[in-house]
Amino acid sequence: MNISNRVRDFVRKLGQGLNIQRLFKRGDKVPDVQTVQQILAAYEPIFRQTVTDTTTRLINNEIKTPQWQREIERALTELYLTAAAGAAGHVGGLDNDMLAEIRRTVKQQSNIYLNRFATQIDQEREKWDADKILNRLNLYVGSAKPIVSRALRMANDGLKGMPAVPAEPGERTICKTNCKCNASRITNLNPEKGTADIWWDLDPTAENCETCIERARLWHPLRIRNWKIVSDITSPRLYAD
Ligand SMILES: [Zn+2]
Repeated sequence: MNISNRVRDFVRKLGQGLNIQRLFKRGDKVPDVQTVQQILAAYEPIFRQTVTDTTTRLINNEIKTPQWQREIERALTELYLTAAAGAAGHVGGLDNDMLAEIRRTVKQQSNIYLNRFATQIDQEREKWDADKILNRLNLYVGSAKPIVSRALRMANDGLKGMPAVPAEPGERTICKTNCKCNASRITNLNPEKGTADIWWDLDPTAENCETCIERARLWHPLRIRNWKIVSDITSPRLYAD
């Protein structure tokens, strides 16, 4: 099965299983962050179960690390699809750009983190038991954050053709997957003139990292005028790498 068939198959099952529509208030066109978090919370046990089953098979020597890695990639794809479908408002609302974005993100996660993790497991097999592996993999539940933020904005048709936000919450930040910021609030939107203000909102109850504080300073809001970003996006303190 190729990726797009698998994606479609999954999205169909997801729509039936989670009944995403039910989570929206009647008349809501663009969902909010809380709604997407609720959807992700409903999906989280499924993600954990898939990851647990795969890791148990690895520990029991039923599979080797390459296959384990592929199955974790698949679980991550499904996690991100859940987030994106929730943000789009319905499973049919996912467009090709979003699907491409999800594939790119999963590949990136896999190349950076999972490759290294798989190598560590292979080299020091006796150090790793199922609990240790799972603890580390559970960090990935928070890694859907940039996808949620992007998908929430893409649910707003008025932003089509406007430049992308330079970095999403949790992306290139010191706080990484712990990021509690939100970059989906939009005001001053005018699709004819290419005008929008996209607000980087800190969570007032969280301990925000330096990257996020700098973004809240320079991107509150991030101003788009004439289809171009006119706010500062070059300050080195905006990016943790
Ligand atoms: Zn943050």
